[in-house]
Amino acid sequence: MKCLFCKQSSILSTSVEHIVPESLGNKGYVLAKGIVCDQCNNYFAIKIEKPVLENEFFNSLRFRNSIPNKKNKHPKGSVIIPQTNFVAEISVDKDDDESLHVVLNDESFALMLEGNIKEIHLLAGEFPKNDPNVSRLMAKMGLEMMAHRLMGHAEGLGYLIDEVQLDPIREYARYNHKRENWVYHSRKIYEENEQFIQENGAVLDKVFECDFLSTKFNEMYFVLAYKGIELVLNMAGSSLEGYIKWLEENNNLSPLYIGKNAPNKK
Ligand SMILES: [Zn+2]
Repeated sequence: MKCLFCKQSSILSTSVEHIVPESLGNKGYVLAKGIVCDQCNNYFAIKIEKPVLENEFFNSLRFRNSIPNKKNKHPKGSVIIPQTNFVAEISVDKDDDESLHVVLNDESFALMLEGNIKEIHLLAGEFPKNDPNVSRLMAKMGLEMMAHRLMGHAEGLGYLIDEVQLDPIREYARYNHKRENWVYHSRKIYEENEQFIQENGAVLDKVFECDFLSTKFNEMYFVLAYKGIELVLNMAGSSLEGYIKWLEENNNLSPLYIGKNAPNKK
């Protein structure tokens, strides 16, 4: 058995690979051990996923939505005290009736005791545009999602590993020797806490969903919506021209909803 990224033998590898990071709320999309070797798994966790998770936007989003990390620890958020400009840590105590804890400095604490602090502001951060780690995470997830669809088909997986057309995205995600930064497209397609009604009437709060888009120019795009933000990466390189064209021809609909029913929002 060979690794999807480095193509080295992965017979001795023991870890399963979470396609979307566990700390971004993924429990179900996992590749069996050996599809991604332990070294590559470890590289992605430290060099790509960690900086993305530490990004202010993703950290705040995880805090707001109570998305725990793989050790089931809930992330801490940051708030700013307008009067003092002090940035404080905020956390939710799950054992104590979900109470909020804010750690203040002396100046802010004194003002609060005097009743002079009426409000604090949660720091939400801006969605990262043009962030090389987000881009390479998209590349990693795209290739892994392809492998996920072929799990159980040894021949199909073998083809994926040997396919030279996928070598640039493999190299980009795992090594990036050429120091590239492939552009990705991002936009909001629904609200972060949008609720969806399923056919059986159950209400669903989506964390992420993804699919592939093939255009008439034989391009393949990986499309992922995370908490309502759609991200799109060309599987063959740093160009979004074909996607922009596709959007124009399809009334700016999301490829995630083309040919299917529009999302049934609550
Ligand atoms: Zn590997």
